[in-house]
Amino acid sequence: MRCMVCFNEVPNGVDVCPCCGFTQYDVIGDTKEALAILGTMADKHRNVFLKKYDLGVNIFTWKDKDGTIVLNEKKRISFGTCDTMQKNTVWLESQFARIPDISEQSVELSVIKSGEPEKIIEVKIPALKEAELQKLGAEMNDDLTVSLVLKNDTSQTKSNPVSIL
Ligand SMILES: [Zn+2]
Repeated sequence: MRCMVCFNEVPNGVDVCPCCGFTQYDVIGDTKEALAILGTMADKHRNVFLKKYDLGVNIFTWKDKDGTIVLNEKKRISFGTCDTMQKNTVWLESQFARIPDISEQSVELSVIKSGEPEKIIEVKIPALKEAELQKLGAEMNDDLTVSLVLKNDTSQTKSNPVSIL
């Protein structure tokens, strides 16, 4: 059956979800009341679980060195923890220059689960057409996948959902 918290498949006979640690309760009867209580418990557990995940992007800056452009610095900017991204787009404060003539913007999505090494996921977002500065946002979908969003003053595009758990 599917875990009510992270929606991963939990094998039959397993009591605790291997992904998020939510106890898989057997309920006698199918009362609406029991389902409502379980739903509330699942929402609470999901919030705590998602706080363990910090999402960010790796940004690269370049500089001119004796006429050649060289990598200056790679730094991670955080969107914050995933619990803030449920039904909500979190935008980075910085604005980014747009690279002309590309059809997709590649982004290094960085996932840090507390106590574990950084996981990097390459995400492609359809490029914006307008020659304007752009902002980068992250939002969590109902199935706990994440989509990255690019916007400028005129339009907005979104990546395919990626699995981060
Ligand atoms: Zn789970």
